[in-house]
Amino acid sequence: MTVIETLFTNAKLADGSFKDIGVAGGRIVSISPAGAGGEAGRRVDIAGALLVPGFVEGHIHLDTSFYGDRWIPHKPCTDGFDVHQRVAFQAENMAMAAPMDERARKQLELCVSNGSLQMRSHVMVDGSVGLKSLETILKVREDYRDIIDIQLVAFPQSGILSSPGTPELLDAAIGLGADLVGGLDPASFDRNLDGHLDVVFGVAERRGVGVDIHLHDFGTLGAFTVEEICARTVALGMQGRVVISHAYGLGDLDADAARHIGAKIAAAGISIMTNAPGDHVFPPVALLRAEGVNVFSGNDNIRDSWWPYGDGDMLGRAMMIGYRSGFYTDEELSAAFDVVTAAGAKALGLEGYGIAVGAKADFVTLDAEHVPEAVVAVPKGRRVFKAGRLVAENGAVVR
Ligand SMILES: [Zn+2]
Repeated sequence: MTVIETLFTNAKLADGSFKDIGVAGGRIVSISPAGAGGEAGRRVDIAGALLVPGFVEGHIHLDTSFYGDRWIPHKPCTDGFDVHQRVAFQAENMAMAAPMDERARKQLELCVSNGSLQMRSHVMVDGSVGLKSLETILKVREDYRDIIDIQLVAFPQSGILSSPGTPELLDAAIGLGADLVGGLDPASFDRNLDGHLDVVFGVAERRGVGVDIHLHDFGTLGAFTVEEICARTVALGMQGRVVISHAYGLGDLDADAARHIGAKIAAAGISIMTNAPGDHVFPPVALLRAEGVNVFSGNDNIRDSWWPYGDGDMLGRAMMIGYRSGFYTDEELSAAFDVVTAAGAKALGLEGYGIAVGAKADFVTLDAEHVPEAVVAVPKGRRVFKAGRLVAENGAVVR
């Protein structure tokens, strides 16, 4: 029989039952009725709090946030939302920001303190910054390896074809340690849908890595681009390894058209990331889930050049997704919770996620009656455990 190193006693699980959870070697080795957990080297009393898997921060930008830096006022676009102009504003702001690694560390600690233990961050890799940002964030990732798992996406923020040298840099980024190759509005930014996707999927195929593309395009152009990404994913047998982040255009379609394209996305095994952003239309979460599409989430920008919002709290993000989606029933609220937990794990291809024997002992305690209440109340005062070890409580990382 496995020796239990730490026994977490009297934890309330999502199904309402009270359990003792045994952990050894960073994994859950037993789940027993409360009081029946047996002998253990150490006991941690969960005291009836709700215990859920660590949140999945599925889309963030560790390199470009100003969180923890001085306040940098938001500059609006001069003629409606324009990605080119936002990128230009970002370059101006980055020139006067605090050192990147300091900002990244503060943002990471914010996320962990709120219960995120798995993360995917996009990091700029393009002709404007080369591999410098990636090198910095790779070091930060190493320093935080014991408290959060981080996937990095080589993200061509200045375009691929319109930023000389970027195709080679994206390839080199994978060699350096990035886990996935990114993209950005292939048609509207580079004005060459096929040329852009040739590079992205070319690197993915050559290096054997997944793809995560930012797609802000609205309307027909957005939907058409989604269909093209679906076709390439299927052609290359990359089902389960491709993400489209934002996909605002899916929120522009009527229900029939959205169901039709949703079926294609599901068949291609593509996950859709949404953060239920401000005043933009965004993908219809319930409709897509009903079509079998995996929808997950992330904070995306936190106090950066794109907007001043974001607090690193994926439970708060679930509330926002539920709020903007008109989710009221317990089933709908639980779906919003799934978006920031299990669906995120699926999108990121995580092994050993969840509260189950054999899974990683990565979990968060919440002062809530059950999951639906947690989504609407967003309780703080959480305890966060990574591999069975306390890594954050009362809103701060403990190391
Ligand atoms: Zn983003």
